[in-house]
Amino acid sequence: MAPPTTKKTNLNIAIIGSGISGLLAARILRAQHTVTIYERTAHPIETGAAINIGPNGIAILDSVGFDRRRARAIPVARTLAYNKAGEMTADTMIDYRAEFGADWLFFHRADLRDELLRLATMEGDVDGDGDGVAARVRWGARVMDVQVGGGEGEDRQAEVVLEGGEVVKADLVIAADGIKSTLRPRILPSTPEISPIPAGSAVFRFTLTRSQAYEALGYMPENLDPAQPGCITTVFAFDDSERRVVIYPCRDFEVLNFAVIVPDSMLWASTAAQITTAGDVWSAPAEKEELLAHFEDFPEWVRCYFRAAPPTLRVWNLHRTPPLPSYINGRAVLIGDAAHAMTPHQGQGGTQAIEDAEGFRLFLGDSVTAEAVPGLLREFDRVRRPRATKIQMNNIEARARRSVQEIHRFRRFNWTYPGIVESVRLLDGEEDRGKGEDAAAAAAGGDMGEKGECKL
Ligand SMILES: Cc1cc2nc3c(=O)[nH]c(=O)nc-3n(C[C@H](O)[C@H](O)[C@H](O)COP(=O)(O)OP(=O)(O)OC[C@H]3O[C@@H](n4cnc5c(N)ncnc54)[C@H](O)[C@@H]3O)c2cc1C
Repeated sequence: MAPPTTKKTNLNIAIIGSGISGLLAARILRAQHTVTIYERTAHPIETGAAINIGPNGIAILDSVGFDRRRARAIPVARTLAYNKAGEMTADTMIDYRAEFGADWLFFHRADLRDELLRLATMEGDVDGDGDGVAARVRWGARVMDVQVGGGEGEDRQAEVVLEGGEVVKADLVIAADGIKSTLRPRILPSTPEISPIPAGSAVFRFTLTRSQAYEALGYMPENLDPAQPGCITTVFAFDDSERRVVIYPCRDFEVLNFAVIVPDSMLWASTAAQITTAGDVWSAPAEKEELLAHFEDFPEWVRCYFRAAPPTLRVWNLHRTPPLPSYINGRAVLIGDAAHAMTPHQGQGGTQAIEDAEGFRLFLGDSVTAEAVPGLLREFDRVRRPRATKIQMNNIEARARRSVQEIHRFRRFNWTYPGIVESVRLLDGEEDRGKGEDAAAAAAGGDMGEKGECKL
């Protein structure tokens, strides 16, 4: 006799924000549920240029039908490091798939976003696994408020309030509204220190095309040679200033991306005056001359690149959020930068957003009902918060390191993550053995060395 078929519950899910975290959460949840994304902008907008996603994030993308060819991704194989005297301090070739289980990829942000949007919203089967119904995006829909709904044992639905007054009910609300989240204090009203704080660093960002890079140096840099292994080059000051220049290609080697980090105390007064944390303006135009002045002591080839940059650049004052005591309340959850914004010193902000989205695998399966949502969110928080918090804290330490080895100290912890289901299982095992709460971060990351530090 054929086994009785059970119809899986279909939850009504509201996601606020169409960044990396919101779109990937929609891709995971569309397999079983009805998903609507509310995005305040009228169409997709991506600021900034490139982003690199480590093996912990790529393993997840690979599992959901992500097409890296469409996303024009470049796998990384080589890392080069120099000091400000121009001496090479590291030249490493690593097979990241063999070492960490998945590739490390460079993307243009718009390409990554487009592919995630396709996976979330395409009609039909995403990758042949019968994955559900296309998520719907409501563009130009700014969310003003969230009522979190009932917790365990209560069946009150959550509510999303849109600009204009429309109220939408949902079984689960996912706030993926970024570092400047206005929903964070709505979801965690009793948490006092919840706003982003200046991280003490600023970043100049610009890109060069292949021909601009060629003209800048008088030869084609290796980073842009498709015949060479994908390469990230970093030039470190290794002094008290913590300055660094990070250079890598994206978009099928057509674009060279620059992220240039300086302490915010170094910014020219005229630039700093335009950035007001209180006024919520975190970025400002800056003259190319300012960039050149901050890096007078760096190698000439770095300054050649800077001279080729547009005359007016943009500089961002970097912020991070304080570690939160919870990401959840009732039927609502914070993910991505809304939950745990961090500076780019380890390239983990977007990658943690991807891990968060993968956490919604807990909401797939026969036992998922509307009543189960608060309990499942508790499991989500039990795994995701300790791990993301640990990476936030490691990130602060990674800022001030004086050698490449020190900077990469947390790499194994960052890049090895077994996913939410396995993390819950490991955590249950640890708690059964009596290790308690401290086990959470360790269970949700790999290969810790002595004293809780990670081996290279
Ligand atoms: C200079 C720099 C370099 C970085 N480099 C890397 C890197 O190499 N690797 C990496 O992993 N991470 C990196 N990061 C971090 C990464 O960019 C972020 O962690 C990631 O983009 C966060 O994604 P998100 O989905 O949480 O939020 P966001 O991408 O900010 O998306 C939030 C979305 O919510 C929408 N929204 C906001 N409020 C509302 C509302 N009320 N109603 C409706 N919609 C709303 C916004 O319009 C936006 O579309 C870097 C960050 C910086 C600043």
